[in-house]
Amino acid sequence: MREQTTLTSSIRARLALVFTTVMGLVLVVFGLALYASVQGYLIREIDSSLAELSHHVASSISTRGYSSAMAIPDLDPFASPGVHVQVLDGYGVPIAHSAGLGMAELPHDRASVDSALAGMPTYHAAEIGAESIRVYSMPIQNDGHVAAIVQVGKSYHDVELTLSQLGKLLIGGAALALLVAASVSWAVASRALQPVADITSAARAIAESPDLTRRLKVGQTRDELGQLSAAFNEMLEGLEAAYTAQKRFVADASHELRAPLTTIRGNLEFVLRARDLPAEGRNEALADGLAEAERMARLVNDLLALARSDAGQIVGFHPVALHKLLLQTWPHIQARANGLELVLDAPDQAVVRGDPDRLKQVLLILLDNSMKYTPIGGRVEVSLRRRANEAILRVVDTGIGISPDDLPHIFERFYRADKARERVSGGSGLGLAIARAIVHGHGGSIGVESRTGEGSTFTVRLPVWSTRVSAESLET
Ligand code: ADP
Repeated sequence: MREQTTLTSSIRARLALVFTTVMGLVLVVFGLALYASVQGYLIREIDSSLAELSHHVASSISTRGYSSAMAIPDLDPFASPGVHVQVLDGYGVPIAHSAGLGMAELPHDRASVDSALAGMPTYHAAEIGAESIRVYSMPIQNDGHVAAIVQVGKSYHDVELTLSQLGKLLIGGAALALLVAASVSWAVASRALQPVADITSAARAIAESPDLTRRLKVGQTRDELGQLSAAFNEMLEGLEAAYTAQKRFVADASHELRAPLTTIRGNLEFVLRARDLPAEGRNEALADGLAEAERMARLVNDLLALARSDAGQIVGFHPVALHKLLLQTWPHIQARANGLELVLDAPDQAVVRGDPDRLKQVLLILLDNSMKYTPIGGRVEVSLRRRANEAILRVVDTGIGISPDDLPHIFERFYRADKARERVSGGSGLGLAIARAIVHGHGGSIGVESRTGEGSTFTVRLPVWSTRVSAESLET
């Protein structure tokens, strides 16, 4: 069933969400840090202007002895809108203030006044009506005593205004940045994941109509998704090759089976219809039909052998002494020498792991071919050598050889180098395909070297049995 991509299951949405969240966190941290540092800077600015103003006021107050002897100047010139000045006597009692405060006084903060009376200048926050202010209390020393305290208060209004504007700017900017981040990351993720969507739709299209010739577009960039597309195409190529081979195999097999069937049917019909046929003609037609039936039986056996190999039903996991197998089979082969010189080079002892019947089949296929394609008077030589961890079986003939055009194809199913000639000699074109499937099933390899008119050499390499098995103790 086709699954619908929901917003939460979509990689694109998740990527955009993660990116936007991270961006949001960065913006919050950055915004808070900026806000705090601007706030700190503005308060330090207020503090330093309050301290400077306090010093001006203090320097204009002339003190001789205690407060009673103080000359307090007019404080108004020191004040300005939002800035208030107040002087306390040596007991912390207000004795003068700037006109901006009206009848009021700067709010009394006991702790700050006490600390100023003890000679320590301090800052504190206060309220005048609805207005927040910052107050600096600076002691004026005379003869080692605190003769007076100058208090200067400044409204926070400007700071608050600046900070609120900054806050609005930060929130607005962050919201805009998040919106942009979300849309950009969505767009980038969509673009980056487009090949995935292409692969998905191509896979679906192929699944719906088995058109294995379709390929994905692979761009110039070899990024991860480009590699995925290329790998997908390679897989399609492999599938297409396998599918085509399968189709060709079925077509070839039907064709091969149809030919003998047609002959058998034709001959039988002929015998049935021609009632007054002489016994000789009748026997000839029946014998011909029988030969075709036998050919068909051989073909069906070959197909069965291939099907078994394809299904992996080859290796019985027995230790097989190849040299014994060779020596046991040799007399049967010699019986079919038919004017050829057959030579068995003294074989090395080699034990492999496998199925003796199947390995014998390989040997017979190679020898049958060599004998079939070597003219009378020619020579077929078989050798078995053991090198390191492999057993090497060679069948060398001085026959007609294989042309370079045919050589790469002779292990393919139903391939015959010369089709017309082969049909006469009875070959189905499956022998070498079966031999190769069996050898591969045993973990080995099979190869050929050949020159037209000079002969061919088939070489089978099989891994030797790794555990120590006494070659003499084995029957084969
Ligand atoms: P077949 O059953 O027709 O022999 P094979 O698969 O055994 O089919 O061989 C495929 C083709 O390879 C043969 O048709 C033949 O043309 C060629 N061939 C195989 N062995 C030899 C050989 N020893 N010398 C020359 N040609 C060979």
